[in-house]
Amino acid sequence: MTARLLEGKIFSAQIKEEAKTGVEEIKKNFGITPSLAVIIVGENPASKVYVRNKHKTCEELGIKSIVVEMSEHSTKEELIEKIDELNADKSINGILVQLPLPNEIKSHEEEILNRIDPLKDVDGFHPYNVGKLVTGSPTLVPCTPAGCLKMLDLAGIEIDGKRAVIIGRSNIVGKPMLHLLMSRHATVTVCHSHTKNLPEVTREADILVAAMGKPKFVTAEMIKPNAVVIDVGINRIAPKKLVGDVDFESAIEIASAITPVPGGVGLLTVAMLMQNVIKAAKLQLNI
Ligand code: NDP
Repeated sequence: MTARLLEGKIFSAQIKEEAKTGVEEIKKNFGITPSLAVIIVGENPASKVYVRNKHKTCEELGIKSIVVEMSEHSTKEELIEKIDELNADKSINGILVQLPLPNEIKSHEEEILNRIDPLKDVDGFHPYNVGKLVTGSPTLVPCTPAGCLKMLDLAGIEIDGKRAVIIGRSNIVGKPMLHLLMSRHATVTVCHSHTKNLPEVTREADILVAAMGKPKFVTAEMIKPNAVVIDVGINRIAPKKLVGDVDFESAIEIASAITPVPGGVGLLTVAMLMQNVIKAAKLQLNI
């Protein structure tokens, strides 16, 4: 038996369709066009592709998109000044600083991101939004884990009462994923590089989320028969070859459902960003 393939393009199309309706409703009922400002500092080629992709998706859905390009040598103060300007601009609903920042200001990343108005923080990284997520009243949630949860829902996969295991405890994927799954009544275990007997733990999972950044690390032996496997990893192993954290070829034979890489979770991240822009606009309109 081979697993059901959870294809990102199908779910992202559904999420974008929902977002498009959300944009139209806001335009019709409140006369405003939801808007996103993305700040990109420097010339990182991968970042430029990501920013272009976000801009294109905004245009597709009727969201106003502004890209603020800043020099590689921008100072922390200049970046903060730009964020303050966008915070004060009532025509901007969402603000995102594309990561990674250049080496010269990388050490100030936390301070820079925390400067974004929490109600415009469409990446969901601000401590205010993290606190809301942890206390169970989420506002703006990080896009990748939110996309994983949305995909489980759209695929009709039950979460309540299930054993979920997450490999990875980063602030942008593993930790928010823990709170999202727990809020939906899964029993969740989070693993990391100090976890002992990892395969023993992962074999307990009805839902296994791999977010570690280690190519093809999760093999069939680590997966419970019929588990749902969500592969968040994106690892470039050759100039034109991306693989996930899961050994797809062996895992597909044992799982009941699995996301491919590429073409899985990655596509949902941008779609969820669009949903966050709409959510941010609604928060600012108090609706
Ligand atoms: P981080 O490097 O921040 O975190 C990796 C986590 O994996 C850490 O918690 C680390 O443990 C854990 N880990 C590493 N090696 C092992 C191991 N051998 N056994 C158990 N745990 C281990 O990564 P991110 O969370 O930022 O990203 C994870 C992956 O997801 C990457 O491939 C990234 O490219 C991808 N990604 C994809 C996105 C998308 O849009 N689809 C968005 C964001 C990320 P410890 O804490 O102990 O160091």
